[in-house]
Amino acid sequence: MRGVHYVLHAPQGDTYADLLFTMIERRGERPPVTYTTFQARDLGGDTAELVKRTVREAAERFQPEALLVGESCTAELIQDQPGALAQGMNLTMPVVPLELPAYSKKENWGASETLYQLIRNLLKPQVPDQPQHDTQAWKAEGRRPRVNLLGPSLLGFRCRDDVLEVQRLLTVHGVDVGVVAPLGASVNDIQRLPQADLNVCLYPEIAESSCSWMERNFGIPFTRTVPIGVGATHSFLVEVHTLLGLEPPAADEGYQRSRLPWYSESVDSTYLTGKRVFIFGDGTHAIAAARICQEELGFEVVGLGTYSREMARAVRAAAKQLGLEALITDDYLEVEAAMAETAPELVLGTQMERHSAKRLGLPCAVISTPMHVQDVPARTSPQMGWEGANVIFDAWVHPLMMGLEEHLIGMFRHDFEFVDGHQSHLGHSGGSGADTESPTTSNTDQAKTATGLAWTADGEAELRKIPFFVRGKVRRNTETYAREKGHLEISSETLYDAKAHFKA
Ligand code: SF4
Repeated sequence: MRGVHYVLHAPQGDTYADLLFTMIERRGERPPVTYTTFQARDLGGDTAELVKRTVREAAERFQPEALLVGESCTAELIQDQPGALAQGMNLTMPVVPLELPAYSKKENWGASETLYQLIRNLLKPQVPDQPQHDTQAWKAEGRRPRVNLLGPSLLGFRCRDDVLEVQRLLTVHGVDVGVVAPLGASVNDIQRLPQADLNVCLYPEIAESSCSWMERNFGIPFTRTVPIGVGATHSFLVEVHTLLGLEPPAADEGYQRSRLPWYSESVDSTYLTGKRVFIFGDGTHAIAAARICQEELGFEVVGLGTYSREMARAVRAAAKQLGLEALITDDYLEVEAAMAETAPELVLGTQMERHSAKRLGLPCAVISTPMHVQDVPARTSPQMGWEGANVIFDAWVHPLMMGLEEHLIGMFRHDFEFVDGHQSHLGHSGGSGADTESPTTSNTDQAKTATGLAWTADGEAELRKIPFFVRGKVRRNTETYAREKGHLEISSETLYDAKAHFKA
């Protein structure tokens, strides 16, 4: 945001958070945050006085239009009530105190609560006695319909380009964008929010509570569909058009304006059909990814989960539709275990899943925060809208072995260069499967020992003939089958019996 300053009561060292903005987001300026940076020796003195001094100095130096005041986890323990202290200082600008329980809530909740408190405090004087709002008032006023885009922020996933893409999408359909918030918004922009016909909630994790507050108090409805993927972008446009009283968009617009539908229909994508995909991320991106995989790329979703507890219900519903049970956890080891268990051929996840996928030898693409610096790229790379679908097609197919190579490695297994597990389009000089055993299978070797099942030499040899990316799954199925049948040894015959059994 612009013109908003944050005074954060926090110990020395918490300024590491600046680096998220200056290095990962590569911002050319310091974040508008002043830390009290108290030290051990300050704890014997008056830390409340330190808060007041810091607030006074920040207000004088930066002269913001609004001041946020909050505390970090350590400051929460010493209970100086910095928000209340700042409110009692008769500052000239609005002061918004933040109560963020660091031991029970996390980043997205903090961002959502902060935006909500800021909007609520700044818009309170404008709240009407009776909420009344006409989403089609633009017709009588002789202007184009106008919407706000709510939710995009720094450290969000591709927000910079999603905003541009959604803005373009709406402009083409005759809809103007009033305010984008919080990304780049000023205090004055926040005060203009009620002038829009409709709120577009792009990132529910960040903006849903603000949108529902405005719906309750001003009567402004908000969109529920997040336009990630061709199908979702179409549903989003239908929702916006219906709410604004516009003619619905053409059903084949996505086909005409995005390349994803034709690319995934073209014959080179045939080998993508049925690829097993494991999805994990924030709720919004995980749900969107599941729909794209299932409806637009022909993948089979074998695992779906989120760390966003606030989105657990929506993710559970999406998983249920796919016949799966959602994984709701913030324990990366649990996610890694689920990933190993489902033995996917592709992982779509966060930076953490990329580390886990690497350990398991699985191809992976990042679809959600937490992210690394490489997911704030210089090039335009939205996830939303028609162009976002193009970016997604390239990014998710790229880590997979290309069709011809996959076929050739399945046929000829003794090449000195194109060895098992090798992906030459990624520039590997020697594949992970050079020893004819992929990391996926070596990982499951431990499971084998634990189960007490032994593979005979010819069983192992037969298993190695299976292309490496499905080998983990075949090994697991065969072991399950052998256990069910009470076999202690697995030969090539057991493997083919198991194959027939699972096909039946
Ligand atoms: S994953 Fe990358 S961006 Fe994140 S903390 Fe590690 S080095 Fe930094």
